[in-house]
Amino acid sequence: MASTAPETYRAYCTQWEERINAFIEMSALCPMPEPQAKGLAGLPFAVKDNIAVKGFSLSCGSKLLEELRAPYTATAVQKLEAAGAWVLGKTNLDEFGMGSSTDNSAIKQTNNPWDTSRVPGGSSGGSAAAVAAGIVPFALGSDTGGSVRQPASFCGVLGLKPSYGAVSRYGLVAYASSLESIGILADTSARCRAVFAAIRGKDPLDQTSQDAPAGAAPLYGNDRAGSPKVIGVLSAEAIAQALAATAASIEGSPGTRETAAQAALLEKEVRQGFELAKTRLAALGHRLVEVNIPSLKYGVPAYYTIATAEASANLARFDGVRYGRRPPWAENPDDLIDKTREAGFGPEVKLRILLGTFVLRSGFQDRYYLQAQRIRAGIRRSFEELLGGAEYQDRDAPRCDAILMPVFPTRAFGRGDTGAALSPFAQKAADLYTCCANLAGLPALAFPVDLAGGLPVGVQLLGRAFSEAALLDMVEAYEQAHPFPHPAGYQAFWP
Ligand code: GLN
Repeated sequence: MASTAPETYRAYCTQWEERINAFIEMSALCPMPEPQAKGLAGLPFAVKDNIAVKGFSLSCGSKLLEELRAPYTATAVQKLEAAGAWVLGKTNLDEFGMGSSTDNSAIKQTNNPWDTSRVPGGSSGGSAAAVAAGIVPFALGSDTGGSVRQPASFCGVLGLKPSYGAVSRYGLVAYASSLESIGILADTSARCRAVFAAIRGKDPLDQTSQDAPAGAAPLYGNDRAGSPKVIGVLSAEAIAQALAATAASIEGSPGTRETAAQAALLEKEVRQGFELAKTRLAALGHRLVEVNIPSLKYGVPAYYTIATAEASANLARFDGVRYGRRPPWAENPDDLIDKTREAGFGPEVKLRILLGTFVLRSGFQDRYYLQAQRIRAGIRRSFEELLGGAEYQDRDAPRCDAILMPVFPTRAFGRGDTGAALSPFAQKAADLYTCCANLAGLPALAFPVDLAGGLPVGVQLLGRAFSEAALLDMVEAYEQAHPFPHPAGYQAFWP
């Protein structure tokens, strides 16, 4: 930790930002990071631009909301400000959180700090890139189907998706309300824990928020050293089975099916990173047992059915009447709404609204939406069988303390015709490993384990509801043995 003049820090931010474009808006005020700061006091942080911070942009990565200023501040941000941290700026994202690359942003293109020709992941790509570059020590994102963990993994930082309801969603612009959580991107597990400790808890402004149940382990307990745990490891066969079945379940041409199966197949470097994580966790004293989660194979279809259905309802508020950029003229109110949406929403958002209204159409509900809800219940049950339920009173001890899974089948992918790109369809099929935690409402913590070809590889640990403490304990012990890597040019401005 060097003692730093504010200009040095400011120059550092500007230099990185010119290369990675992580921010939609950066505050002009830039106090010096306080070297002696305790906990969160004095630390700058970044906030995904779908989370409200009074007076700042709240574009959601959309043309429609590009000029919107947030009239109030999200509870999670308020709590961080109360702890003495300050908002450096608002970060880029896939429009309304829909995507896995941040390239679906209508505002700008964000680059991966490890290789600026590649995407940072998404949808919280700006937040992940800002943390990886050392512009901020932590950032807030949102995770509806993997949007905190996947960019964390692409950028080589930690990504925590808390249990559903553990953090208030007040001030988060809703994409799919029943799936999403505000999550944390951070440079170290100690930081991640401190931020989570500050932002969690019941909030009267979000009726789905709650405090951790009485039986849950305390966040600052006695197990920080990470006593031996039983970790269920998703076996290679389980992954293969899930892929084969996902492909078979897709209605479409054999070509489409093949693409889906291939898209979810782990690339060699990711497979090696997964094996490395297993070896190291075992060396730290944990007992690894292979597990199979047969319902995993239905995860992606169920996720996209539920997410798009909820999105079609949530995005109906953007009509140009109350918020958003209006067309220069309109014949009547309907025409105003049509023109606003036609010009304001990008293609991916339109696609998902259409899909959402399709699965909710009367006569189709039983075939798609209700079916997806049944699958969702099944997925939750299979995880509960392995991990135990949220009540913390199960008679039978759960079989595993956590489940180790890949985050995404590839490392950060490229763009255009480089051969390293991933099609929009393949990106969706690849959400297999992240979306189940959202369907089941469980906490999941992604962390970097390897570098391959100069790009980070991450894995994730999933736990029972409100077991964030256990996940953080395991990862903190792992990090002590295997510190996380930083890209060239990284400088640490805070302890
Ligand atoms: N990639 C997923 C999607 O496009 C996840 C997005 C998210 O978590 N917001 O829906």
